[in-house]
Amino acid sequence: MNRRQFFKQAALAATLLGNIPGLAAAGQEAPRKTGAKPKQAGYYWFSVGDVDVLALSDGTLRSNAKLLNDTPGQVDALLRQAHASVPAIASVNAYLIVLGDRRILIDAGTGDLLGPSLNKLPESLAAAGFMPGQITDILLTHIHADHSGGLTLQGRMVFPNATVHVSRAEKAFWLDPANVAKARDSHKPMFAQARKSLEPYAVVGRLAAFEAGQDVVPGITSRPSTGHTPGHTFYVLESQGQRLVFWGDTVHVAEAQFPCPELAIEYDIDPEAAVRARQQAMEEAAREGHLVAGAHIAFPGIGHVAKAGQGYQWIPAPYVNDAIG
Ligand SMILES: [Zn+2]
Repeated sequence: MNRRQFFKQAALAATLLGNIPGLAAAGQEAPRKTGAKPKQAGYYWFSVGDVDVLALSDGTLRSNAKLLNDTPGQVDALLRQAHASVPAIASVNAYLIVLGDRRILIDAGTGDLLGPSLNKLPESLAAAGFMPGQITDILLTHIHADHSGGLTLQGRMVFPNATVHVSRAEKAFWLDPANVAKARDSHKPMFAQARKSLEPYAVVGRLAAFEAGQDVVPGITSRPSTGHTPGHTFYVLESQGQRLVFWGDTVHVAEAQFPCPELAIEYDIDPEAAVRARQQAMEEAAREGHLVAGAHIAFPGIGHVAKAGQGYQWIPAPYVNDAIG
């Protein structure tokens, strides 16, 4: 499908949107309490070579997650220096890649697992002209609730026509009941969440496992980036000499972890390996100059990485909104 055909199809989908809860009222004056913010669906189109990519906001949350390897007061000082709030605000981003006849999601948002400021992915998709039934493939960077929770609501597949792809190591880790007993207490509930999110797809044969390093769908390769979870995976999209690497959870608190990549986070299954993976990813991105998409970097989470002192610096991609017509 070329770009023109694609946008024609998206426009067609947009005409169906009257049935989407939350969008039906678009254009009408919605009564709201003084000081209450209207709910914002967020999407942002950009291109990698001749491939259209859409950043999708699932919302943001105030993250109380503890960073590891820090010195007393270090993280708060880094946040204040960056004019960020304490605790930090984390975006939850997913991405849609339109590649030929496939519409490929990278991660699936939180669903109803992480509170009322999230689960905006379906509305963000709809606002951009897509119905959940149009998604053909979902590539999970890993199986934490903020990446896989949105697959399933009340036991039903949110994306009824999609195949969910995940690395073999990741699937084996989260779906093996023997690992629950060995996990830290704070990690134990994640196993039940993983099963709940994946099961409806597994039952109908739409849960596919791949060896990290393989092509997952034509045009998108996978790369192991173990540490945050045992099967944490990068996805790489290349077109016309441009490259975008989907980083998943390489960075949780950008203001702290770009200058100090040695800061791990309590959700890391193997913090030492996660630090090594982050250092490698940042070194590579700075050296190669490719685009990066970060699941928790401020929406749309697209940018470049540069070396800065002993650490690194995040350079958000310039905002472009030049569509005509
Ligand atoms: Zn995450």
